[in-house]
Amino acid sequence: MNIHAPKPPTQMLNPAAAPLVDPFGRAITYVRVSVTDRCDFRCVYCMSEDMHFLPKQDLLTLEELDRLCAAFIARGTRKLRITGGEPLVRRNIMSLFRSLSRHLESGALEELTVTTNGSQLAKYAQELADCGVRRINVSLDTLDADKFRAITRWGDLSKVMDGLDAAQAAGLQIKINAVALAGVNDGEFPDMIRWAHGRGMDLTFIEVMPLGEIDGQRADQYLPLNKVQADLASEFSLEGSDYQTGGPARYVRVKETGGRIGFITPLTHNFCESCNRVRVTCTGTLYMCLGQEDAADLRTPLRASESNDLLNEAIVRAIARKPKGHDFIISRDTQQPAVGRHMSVTGG
Ligand code: SAM
Ligand code: SF4
Repeated sequence: MNIHAPKPPTQMLNPAAAPLVDPFGRAITYVRVSVTDRCDFRCVYCMSEDMHFLPKQDLLTLEELDRLCAAFIARGTRKLRITGGEPLVRRNIMSLFRSLSRHLESGALEELTVTTNGSQLAKYAQELADCGVRRINVSLDTLDADKFRAITRWGDLSKVMDGLDAAQAAGLQIKINAVALAGVNDGEFPDMIRWAHGRGMDLTFIEVMPLGEIDGQRADQYLPLNKVQADLASEFSLEGSDYQTGGPARYVRVKETGGRIGFITPLTHNFCESCNRVRVTCTGTLYMCLGQEDAADLRTPLRASESNDLLNEAIVRAIARKPKGHDFIISRDTQQPAVGRHMSVTGG
């Protein structure tokens, strides 16, 4: 063999391994998989109190989810986030993490991570760490137990706090995600920043997104983060940061605490140009954009044969339709959510 001859491109060696690139030239390297639409909380911005969940037989089995993830990894997915609903309430969920950890060991996958409400973390933190999970996102909108109960309807703050302790004891890095809710938690942000940074955790604020019917009015909840940032700037010295995770958050460093805060602003700032991600629901529906209705059914090709050929074809066809972006609007004139499905279905 002539060692000076140019190497053939990877896709000529293995057609299934060609990385996924969408029509706008964005490589799709990040997949979020929702493993359940169910949850032990009912956060007011996310769900209505009497949510109807999918019948269990519609869900992909954990083995099918594992196969689906493996198909994406074979096509260049480098980061996998397990989410929901609340991913850690799915029965036997650790078997999926254990199985997926083989892709970390082989080097095919760079990061396996999870977004959780923290309620089950005390039980699972060590096992997650043992499966190669290094960083996790925990959603927490307030440090006040009564307010926490009001926002989540059913949640117990002390359990989440125990979960955070267990996660840190297991060596997991934590990012706290807090949805900014007008008139609810907006007075607490400086305290939350000091608390999170004091424990070595990053904190990211998220704007309410118009996803799915809830009991209240989203226009009442919506708090633009440019206002939050301006208010915080009167209390802290915020320094620009070029820290990037490839995601939609913009980061600033807080001089006084030495920590970072992120702002995810789907409404005031469009983050679609650099989008590298797609989302799969627990029924195997692939959403190419969080803010659009178009989707592809992956469950049928997955179940149609033991080989992944049909599945791969369906994935490639879907990525070829990934839209340029979304156009969420929250206003008092628009009573309907921009997208009918809840975040807990698509996976946050
Ligand atoms: N149950 C897990 C949790 O709460 O972290 C994972 C799923 S949850 C749907 C993922 C993230 O979506 C959470 O941080 C939650 O606060 C956020 N979220 C849910 N509904 C939202 C909405 N309408 N607008 C903005 N963020 C939302
Ligand atoms: Fe459950 Fe997460 Fe939705 Fe809250 S945000 S109801 S914890 S899925």
